[in-house]
Amino acid sequence: ERGNADRLGTVDVRAEGISKRFADTAALADVTLNARAGELVALLGPSGSGKTTLLRIVAGLEQASAGRILLGGEDATQVPVQDRGVGFMFQSYALFRHLTVADNIAYGLKVRPRAARPSAAIIRARVTELLELVQLPGIEKRYPSQLSGGQRQRVALARALAVDPKVLLLDEPFGALDAKVRRDLRRWLRDIHERTGHTTLFVTHDQDEALEIADRVAILNQGRLEQIGTPDEIYEHPATAFVAGFIGESARLPVEAAGGGVRIGAHTLPMNGRRVPDGPAALFVRPRDLVMARSDGGATAPQTLPAHVAAVRRAGATRRAELRFGDSLPPVEMEVPVEVVLAKGDNIRVAFTHVRVFSA
Ligand code: ATP
Repeated sequence: ERGNADRLGTVDVRAEGISKRFADTAALADVTLNARAGELVALLGPSGSGKTTLLRIVAGLEQASAGRILLGGEDATQVPVQDRGVGFMFQSYALFRHLTVADNIAYGLKVRPRAARPSAAIIRARVTELLELVQLPGIEKRYPSQLSGGQRQRVALARALAVDPKVLLLDEPFGALDAKVRRDLRRWLRDIHERTGHTTLFVTHDQDEALEIADRVAILNQGRLEQIGTPDEIYEHPATAFVAGFIGESARLPVEAAGGGVRIGAHTLPMNGRRVPDGPAALFVRPRDLVMARSDGGATAPQTLPAHVAAVRRAGATRRAELRFGDSLPPVEMEVPVEVVLAKGDNIRVAFTHVRVFSA
């Protein structure tokens, strides 16, 4: 990968202290993050968290209110979009309907000033090569209306790659497609990334997509960077309560930390190891981190709590039980193997194998 990066002249990207205001909205507040040369970094966050704005600022389509953009270590903050050497692909940035696939892909090369424009033969060869790369060989003469949604997105990626960008910027490139096509395309994109080695910033609101294909994931919330890390770091070691709640279907329970344990409703769960300061806190737990304890010995085990089973549902290969730990507490999902006997209305004891607690 590194070798590819060197060969391409792809560069690292650094956003430094980026803030952006739109009238009375603070879209970004002091965001600093980087993507190393050849790295694929996902920008992940809920709607309105500032992902697109950050991507547009890196592209040069938008000016930051404060902060700098560095491309390959050089300050590009004042460099106009066409001179930044970035290739981009936006969900709404559709193909030109009146141009063939070949002309769409070649567009960025053909609009170059005469001196920098490759010859027609070189452009043709480049289009052929890119269509092979995106696994759509031989469709040069077709029009966008003759392609499926997934094929159009692949042509759009070929168009973004045609100009040999130093950096590739993708904004929800598969957003409008159905789930199955999205899953196929994300693997395909990772594969292309491994072959071409472009430094890539990729905006998505889909955590599975981000965790599956990115080298690192940057999590934005209300214009702030909550955490940047590898998928494993983000999943296993969320740095903030927001990340803990956002990633991996965690339930969030309001609790009270006191004397090395946490009070959940009327009961106390001892916490081994990591201490949380006494006072109000939030506990996050995932469906897989709850286990039904044996009703005999488990009944008094200190790491278990009594729970009421409000519902049991099939969920793919396993089942999910909806648990209540108290009337005023939100429901908590527990993964249940199909062979475990459990029904709505049961009262059980539940062990917490892994929880994360953040001081409120
Ligand atoms: P989504 O996933 O919905 O696309 P996002 O994370 O990409 O969201 P942005 O589009 O970057 O979020 O928007 C961040 C904030 O800035 C939002 O509150 C949005 O309403 C605001 N905003 C974005 N662009 C503009 C604009 N041109 N004018 C005014 N406000 C804007």
